[in-house]
Amino acid sequence: MPEARGLIVVVEDERAIADLQRLYLTEAGFGVHVERNGDAGLAAIRRLRPVAVVLDVGLPGIDGIELCRRMREAGDWTPVIFVTARDDEIDRILGLELGADDYLTKPFSPRELVARLKTILRRYAGAGAAAPVTVGTVVLDATQRRVEASGRIISLTSTEFDLLAKLMSSPGQVFTREQLLSSVWGQADYGLGRTVDVHVAQLRAKLGDDSPIVTSRGVGYSVARS
Ligand code: CA
Repeated sequence: MPEARGLIVVVEDERAIADLQRLYLTEAGFGVHVERNGDAGLAAIRRLRPVAVVLDVGLPGIDGIELCRRMREAGDWTPVIFVTARDDEIDRILGLELGADDYLTKPFSPRELVARLKTILRRYAGAGAAAPVTVGTVVLDATQRRVEASGRIISLTSTEFDLLAKLMSSPGQVFTREQLLSSVWGQADYGLGRTVDVHVAQLRAKLGDDSPIVTSRGVGYSVARS
């Protein structure tokens, strides 16, 4: 059955590479839509809502990094695999917290691309077992890494997202700064307590009146039970 695995949007300006990607992805059971420049790519992603995006970095129009940044800014956390011709671009991609799921350096094997895509989609399908969580007016969808408050999409950094997801995982439960540090940042150090406070302040600023976050003075944070 065609498209059994879902639709992939490929944004790639080199025709030979795009053709190869289309061939292998189609053979692997994906539907494929190709765009050749950044602006058309972004429009296609918004229109077609693919299960994943294969994104060349060097593109006419907006480049791949800017395209991904605009997706994330709009709250779209669809998995993205970057394809880059230059090693120095990888540092840029990783440094920007774009939530890039993976990257491949040209020249790459199309088989490798298919394998990486399958891995990423398996991972997302696992996470997808969790339904979106609602607290008050805030809806958090871990699969899409998407947060809405009173219907507006809230653009969060990956750290802010993970922090909110942790708090919303158990409404009414107060998490200490140490618990949040170890769960979100992977470390528990009293000296870093301030880091939690700073990120909570940023979350509150972005969520505004919708913020469900409650401070327990001297203990930590929770979200109100809705
Ligand atoms: Ca290119």
